[in-house]
Amino acid sequence: MKTVVLIKQVPDSPDVRLDPATGVLKRDRNKGIANPEDKYAVEMALGLRERNGGTITVLSMGPETAKDSLKEALAMGADEAMLISDPALAGSDVAATAKVLASAIEAIGAADLILCGRRSIDGSTGAVGPMLAEILRVSLISAVRKLDVNEGKLLAEQVWDDQIRVIEAATPAVVTVSREAKSPRLANAMGIMKAAKKPMSVKTLADLGLNPSTVGLAGSLAKVTRVATPERKRRLQAWDATHPSAFSELNQKLAAKGLLS
Ligand SMILES: Cc1cc2nc3c(=O)[nH]c(=O)nc-3n(C[C@H](O)[C@H](O)[C@H](O)COP(=O)(O)OP(=O)(O)OC[C@H]3O[C@@H](n4cnc5c(N)ncnc54)[C@H](O)[C@@H]3O)c2cc1C
Repeated sequence: MKTVVLIKQVPDSPDVRLDPATGVLKRDRNKGIANPEDKYAVEMALGLRERNGGTITVLSMGPETAKDSLKEALAMGADEAMLISDPALAGSDVAATAKVLASAIEAIGAADLILCGRRSIDGSTGAVGPMLAEILRVSLISAVRKLDVNEGKLLAEQVWDDQIRVIEAATPAVVTVSREAKSPRLANAMGIMKAAKKPMSVKTLADLGLNPSTVGLAGSLAKVTRVATPERKRRLQAWDATHPSAFSELNQKLAAKGLLS
């Protein structure tokens, strides 16, 4: 079984900042980390390989620094890595991202299974997996906590609120992995040493045969123009509890707001 696991390098802080001129994520302020759910996807792929054999390729689209996240996945046990990196990719919306990742998956060739996180902690649209399945014309199973292969078919446990749904699908398929899946293993010293010798290729848009005007800011329909925390207006009113009318005043205020039943 040939599995491709998608890894997005995300800022290590929820404090996402954009370049005001371009709307592109500023990556210089924060150290990048592998998107947490993507490590659950790597763990799921490793478990499947232990039970069924096969190979695992980890794939990222991003700047050169995304190599660190790919190396981490190699140290966990993935076999090889591919990074798609090109200055023209900056500012890609979710559709452009899915298009590039689909081309890379086609270039890798013959993938039976594509695993990714359910959503990233920065853009967080949760749309890359579903769009990828659409472009590749393969099945999609989303928010999966457990996955097995039985007689060539995928058998997945999907998490939905307080329900678990069991879904069967043919391969090839895209599966998005939730945090309810098995916790990712930590890379050990031996894994880190082995990772240094594992193959990692870096491809550009030209390598994938993609026209730069169809991706990045130029080829994206959606553009993030501002990221801000909504201002919350809080008013504090205090009563002196030793004052005889304090409780009746408080009662009246709460009753007027319909907060007393
Ligand atoms: C604050 C913010 C808000 C944004 N809002 C929008 C928006 O509303 N609409 C829009 O079109 N774009 C938006 N973007 C751009 C969007 O983040 C990028 O297109 C991004 O590359 C993919 O979307 P996502 O992070 O939402 O991925 P999600 O769909 O949330 O990610 C799911 C999984 O897909 C995989 N994946 C995602 N990106 C990559 C990658 N580059 N390389 C490898 N695997 C990957 C990972 O496994 C990830 O766990 C936003 C970006 C930011 C920073």
